[in-house]
Amino acid sequence: MYSDRVLMQVRNLTVDYVGDHSVARAVNGIDFDIREGEAFGLAGESGCGKSTVAFALARLTRLPGLVSGGEVRLNGEDVLKFDKARLKAYRWNEVSFVFQSAMNALNPVIPVSEQIMDVIETHQPDLGAEGARKRASELFDLVGIPSRRLDDYPHQFSGGMRQRICIAIALALQPRLIIMDEPTTALDVVVQRDIIEQIVELKGRLGFSVLFITHDLGLMIEFCDRIGVMYSGELVEVAPAEAILTNPRHPYTRALGNSFPPLIGPRLRMEGIPGTPPDLRSLPEGCRFAPRCPHAMDVCRSVAPELRAYPELRSEAACHLLN
Ligand code: SF4
Repeated sequence: MYSDRVLMQVRNLTVDYVGDHSVARAVNGIDFDIREGEAFGLAGESGCGKSTVAFALARLTRLPGLVSGGEVRLNGEDVLKFDKARLKAYRWNEVSFVFQSAMNALNPVIPVSEQIMDVIETHQPDLGAEGARKRASELFDLVGIPSRRLDDYPHQFSGGMRQRICIAIALALQPRLIIMDEPTTALDVVVQRDIIEQIVELKGRLGFSVLFITHDLGLMIEFCDRIGVMYSGELVEVAPAEAILTNPRHPYTRALGNSFPPLIGPRLRMEGIPGTPPDLRSLPEGCRFAPRCPHAMDVCRSVAPELRAYPELRSEAACHLLN
């Protein structure tokens, strides 16, 4: 269960990719909050800006990417203004990360014990080597891996276990927010379910928040409390996960939901979403979804809809149909 207290406040976040002759605005001034103890999901097609947002929140954006505007507030401090020393304390202590490819995230020629202890010793030098090893062993227990395997190398673990090790590293300093970018995408569905269940259990027990990114809307609805749906660098709907499933309001959210087969019930012909997302270097006027939207009206092709709050539904959406 999550509280109403806001942990991280993202305002007008803008990220560009700068080329020699053009600039692509990958994230166009988006606003959202992540609350304490909440799993907040970012959904959308590939290239919609989900991972770009995650990298910006973690201050991991690298050229040609550039965070060109906005604020990311944690406890009132703007993460985007942190200097090097503050950034070191921020990463892992306050916000940590689990990315898709566990094999690439772990160094293949170093035992995992050293990799976990490295994070602990760097940020909590007072613990010393013995304390760091004890903590690493506790973390293995926490994610269900026998601590006798602490000194094994990454290749000696299965894909699911490697991802659990990455989760253990992310939990090492008890951060308040873990950013998970496609954490289970490379795993088979059974292992994927095990890992998600474990994250849910750990989240309930330890009380951290999660920013969860995946293209799998079904998995996201199951795991997240609230979901923000992104299209072409903008948030088009933010709503409780259940509402995204049962009462999606934005035509893009509905189309996204219709692209996934239901697990039960009669066989259906899947509709998919016709067309492709627009080129970020030459965007259509008005609503960015208009060229693919079955409900597009004249106003949609000239005026960009703003994300409006619908307090009675605890949701926000950006669509002229809803005005
Ligand atoms: Fe469709 Fe218009 Fe709504 Fe955009 S604003 S999603 S084009 S109805």
